[in-house]
Formats: sequence, structure tokens, C-alpha cells
Amino acid sequence: MCVSCGNGNPDDDHGNPDSITAVKIELAAVAARISPQQVAQNISAAYDHAPTETPMTWPTGNPVR
Ligand SMILES: [Zn+2]
Repeated sequence: MCVSCGNGNPDDDHGNPDSITAVKIELAAVAARISPQQVAQNISAAYDHAPTETPMTWPTGNPVR
């Protein structure tokens, strides 16, 4: 598990560097001089859409949610 898939070990990237691990969140926090909790909140806010907005899509064309 990684922090992007939800639970378990937040430092296991499943062998895929695209997974977001706790280490990456903490590095981002240091880079931005904010707490890891604030990084997580900022990421969440960036994906927090009003229901009427056009859904975001992945490069594959699949909806983000
Ligand atoms: Zn995971």
C-alpha cells in the first residue's frame, strides 16, 4: 500500500514509482516548508470539485471520479 491507494503501509510503492508514498509527501512538505498534513490537505483541495463541474479525466480519458 501507498498513501495514494488508501491504507496499509504508506511507504510501499508496490514496485511502481507512480504510487505516492509517505516519503514523497514528506519530501513535498519539506520543499514547501509546510507540514505533511498540509500537503495532504492541499492535494485533497485540488481535487475537490463541485458536482456540477466537468469531471477531471486521466490521460487515458477515464474520469478521475
Ligand atoms: Zn498502495
